[in-house]
This record gives sequence, C-alpha cells and structure tokens, in this order.
Amino acid sequence: MRNYNESKRVLVTGGAGFLGSHLIDRLIERGDEVVCVDNLFTGSKANISHLIGHSQFEFLRHDITFPLYIEVDEIFNLACPASPIHYQHDPVQTTKTSVHGAINMLGLAKRLGSRIFQASTSEVYGDPSVHPQPESYWGNVNPIGPRSCYDEGKRCAETLFFDYHRQYQLDVRVCRIFNTYGPRMHPNDGRVVSNFIVQALKGDDITLYGDGLQTRSFCYVDDLVEGFLRFMSLEAEVDGPLAYPGPINLGNPHEFTMRQLAEQIIDLTGSKSEMIFQPLPADDPKQRQPDITLAMNLLNWQPTVQLRQGLEKTIAYFDTKLRVAG
Ligand code: NAD
Ligand code: UDP
Repeated sequence: MRNYNESKRVLVTGGAGFLGSHLIDRLIERGDEVVCVDNLFTGSKANISHLIGHSQFEFLRHDITFPLYIEVDEIFNLACPASPIHYQHDPVQTTKTSVHGAINMLGLAKRLGSRIFQASTSEVYGDPSVHPQPESYWGNVNPIGPRSCYDEGKRCAETLFFDYHRQYQLDVRVCRIFNTYGPRMHPNDGRVVSNFIVQALKGDDITLYGDGLQTRSFCYVDDLVEGFLRFMSLEAEVDGPLAYPGPINLGNPHEFTMRQLAEQIIDLTGSKSEMIFQPLPADDPKQRQPDITLAMNLLNWQPTVQLRQGLEKTIAYFDTKLRVAG
C-alpha cells in the first residue's frame, strides 16, 4: 500500500489544456509521476512540450468518453472544453465528455480504489439569483439553451461523483471553479481575458458584449492550482472517504464589470484600441462572484495574486506568443 505522503502516480485528464498543464507542472515539481491524458481537442502539445522526455511525465492521446485501463494512485478529471465557443462547437460531444467521461473515470477510480477530483464549474449555478454564490445554492440553469451542454453535463457529472461516493464510498473531491485566467489560455477560445488582451496587443477593437456592465471575478491560475492541491491532499477518514467531499468553490471573490476589465487591459498594454459594443450571447450570466468561506475554512485557502499582477503575466505570455507567430 502506498502512503499518501510518498510521491504518487497521478492521472490528469485534460492535462494538455490551460489548467491541466499548470497542475501537471506543480505535480512534477513536488515529485509525482504524471500520466497526462488528452485528446487535444482544445489543448495543445505546446502546453506540455517542456515536459516531453521528462522521466516523471507520460502523454497518452485518448478520448475519455472511451474506457481507459491504466494503473494510477490518484486522478484529476479536468478533460472538457471550457470556453463557450469550444463547448458549443460539438455540444453532444461536450455532454458526452462530462457524463461518459465521468462514468469512465469514476469506474477507473473504483477499480483502483483511488482518490478522484472533479473540475466542476460555477456554471452549475447558471444565471444566479443568489449573490455571491455559496455551495448550498442549487442554481438557475436553462436545461435546453446553447450553454446547457456544458452546464447540465457538469451538473450530471457532479451527480455521478456524489452517487459513487454514497454508493461505493469512493473518495471523491468536487470543486467548482470560477473564471480563471493566466498564461496558456487558448488565444482564440473567445474567453474574455484572452480576447481583450489579444485585441489590445494587436490594436484591434475591444469587443464588449451587451453593455459591458455584467460582472465576473477572475482568479489567477497559480492560486487556483494551489486550491486543487490543498483539497486533494486533505486526509480521508480512517478506512473511508473524506467526510466532506465537496463541492467547494474555488475562485477570486474580487468582482468587476467587463468594462473595468477592458479599461485595465488597455491601460496595462498602453494600447490605442477602442471599446465597441456587440450583442450579448444567450444565457450570459449577469453577475458572478464566488463565496469562498468554505475554502477558507476547510483548506485555509484564498487567492493571493492581484488582478493587475496576474494580467501583467498573462499579457507578457500573449505578447511573446504573438511575436513568435509574427
Ligand atoms: P481547456 O480547454 O484548456 O482544457 C480542457 C482539456 O481537455 C483540453 O486539453 C482538451 O483537449 C481536453 N479534452 C476535451 N475533451 C476531451 C475528451 N473527450 N477526452 C480527453 N481530453 C479532452 O480548458 P481549461 O480552462 O483548462 O479547463 C479545464 C477544466 O476546468 C474543464 O473541465 C473546465 O470545465 C473546468 N473549468 C475551467 C474554468 C476556467 O476558467 N478555465 C472554469 C470552470 C471550470
Ligand atoms: N465577453 C465580452 N467580450 C468578449 C468575450 C466575452 O464582453 O470578447 C463577456 C461575456 O459576454 C461574459 C464575460 O465577458 O459576460 C465572461 O465571458 P467568458 O466567456 O470569458 O466567461 P463566462 O461567460 O463563461 O463566464
């Protein structure tokens, strides 16, 4: 039997994506062996190219909607396109990734008796009527709209995680991630931080959807990954799963409007870009802010990176990327 203080063999699904690749960097740094499973739908080899050939790292091109038979000690399930443009490209596959993918990864964890983490999302709260959103809020989600493949897929995945926990005493950890940003975001995924930065660096118009007064709260990727690791390393009960398997909100409670975000990015890049207004996409939540009281109490966690500091690092990343692309 392995002791949880020893280094482990860890499976990260979606490991070639934005969050997954940062998580893998931290796991390798602490001495774990990592198996990265990804079908490269939205992820890229560039995100993990620095790890190819590393003795602690292995890449497996695989779609998690199909079963996977490997031996690992711990699983982080992150595979799923996360930006509206990407998850709406093939909505049926998005739902399959969340639901069939969860069934496959939970089945794997059950066979191995391993701890398993689910990257759920603030989208399970939909367009919230409670603000800020605590974990006890059940949400306000449209089940038949263009965002539903993602929102309902993630909600069903949560159901599966909790049923495996109740039915099989599986050691699950479900975290609800709020908007996160940082280097290695996909430049064309349509998410607001990457869109605004790329537009500002190119001198293009900054596209504000609606009146730009809708709010979000953005967490820098390093803070988020620290939260993942703290949650995953909480010791389970003797001979059983963790008393509180989640859900836990992870995100930055500092909330601001998309207009304020655009102004800050224009200021930091010194761009001459102008703001223009375009129609608001369907079911776009008006406001979102995590209540992180639970994460503060249970994990002794809260974000430490200020927006300005995080944006500077992200701008530097996209600046280099755009220069290399010419
Ligand atoms: P991402 O698109 O960069 O990463 C997702 C990865 O999953 C990609 O590498 C993609 O190729 C892979 N993938 C997709 N479908 C797959 C499949 N069927 N089989 C194997 N691999 C597959 O997105 P991200 O921002 O890194 O998000 C990672 C996880 O975190 C997702 O589950 C997402 O829902 C969740 N999340 C992210 C945010 C955020 O702000 N970034 C917010 C809430 C939740
Ligand atoms: N948004 C915007 N301009 C853009 C991209 C997004 O004004 O070019 C808005 C979008 O309508 C939403 C917010 O920014 O209100 C966050 O969008 P994102 O897709 O990043 O995240 P999500 O809506 O999933 O929280």
